[in-house]
Amino acid sequence: AKEAGPGLVRSFEPVMLYARQLRREMASDLRNAVERNEFRLAYQPVVDLVTGQMHGVEVLLRWEHPTQGLTMPDSFIPLAEASGAIVGIGRWVLRTALEQLSAWRADGQDKEGFHIRVNVSASELQSMDLVDYVRGVLRDTGTEPQDLVLEITESALVGSGDVETYSMQALKALGIRLEIDDFGTGYSSISYLRRLPVHAVKVDRELIAEISRDKGQLHFVDAVHRLIQAAGLEAVFEGVETAQQAAMLQEMGCCHGQGYYFSRPLTAGQTGALLASGDRL
Ligand code: C2E
Ligand code: CA
Ligand code: CA
Ligand code: CA
Repeated sequence: AKEAGPGLVRSFEPVMLYARQLRREMASDLRNAVERNEFRLAYQPVVDLVTGQMHGVEVLLRWEHPTQGLTMPDSFIPLAEASGAIVGIGRWVLRTALEQLSAWRADGQDKEGFHIRVNVSASELQSMDLVDYVRGVLRDTGTEPQDLVLEITESALVGSGDVETYSMQALKALGIRLEIDDFGTGYSSISYLRRLPVHAVKVDRELIAEISRDKGQLHFVDAVHRLIQAAGLEAVFEGVETAQQAAMLQEMGCCHGQGYYFSRPLTAGQTGALLASGDRL
């Protein structure tokens, strides 16, 4: 903007200042949002592509902002990561999700093998007491480590050091399953597939977006799937929006998918009802 001349600078600055001001307010609102009970969770089914049955759910955070209304994670998670608020928020998410799982179970709604997937960001993985916290929540809620999958965004793994690796090893040793999230975007490294103690890979929706229109992309995705299998890992495909995409993935022998074609994120009540019904998606 500096080079654009004085006229532009004058008209730009108030907007930028306003944006910065908004971000600052959001960041301070975020610090209080847990205590004010402004967060809630949505649950999106992960489906077995062969049987059409719900295999698990991914927990997605929602923020009822007092003035802005329903706010989606893409607009506040980066802010929460930058300010460090994500650590407290992430703990609230984990506890609430496992309490919910335990409630479904008490109602006899969950079934064998059903699991809950929680997103974990880089700064959570860097906190030394994450493992103790997870162990404590499992104990408090009476849930089992094998009920839980932690999704770790690929960007969190870039340049991951000793603490992250230690946390991942310790979580795995507890019996929790770890998954690389958003695979295929950003700075993907295929070496992660062999190096990290993960059991599955979630392929980013960007990769399958065009598979029904673009033959080359379809072959590419097929190769990515075989690569994941060759590493001895399971593959989950996110962002399945059409019947055609679902059929193509099934054709490739993929086993798990998630996306609007099967279901939008649901409330806890809707998820419990779906679990109890055992309906196909
Ligand atoms: P993600 O982990 O890649 O989660 C999937 C996102 O894709 C969700 O957006 C979901 O609603 C959306 N989605 C699901 N199916 C489809 C589809 O068929 N088409 C399209 N276009 N989108 C689909 P959401 O809920 O807005 O979450 C955005 C991101 O925020 C998540 O991306 C995740 O990285 C992050 N996030 C959400 N909840 C948490 C949390 O509790 N903790 C942390 N650290 N991050 C979270
Ligand atoms: Ca995720
Ligand atoms: Ca993802
Ligand atoms: Ca994604």
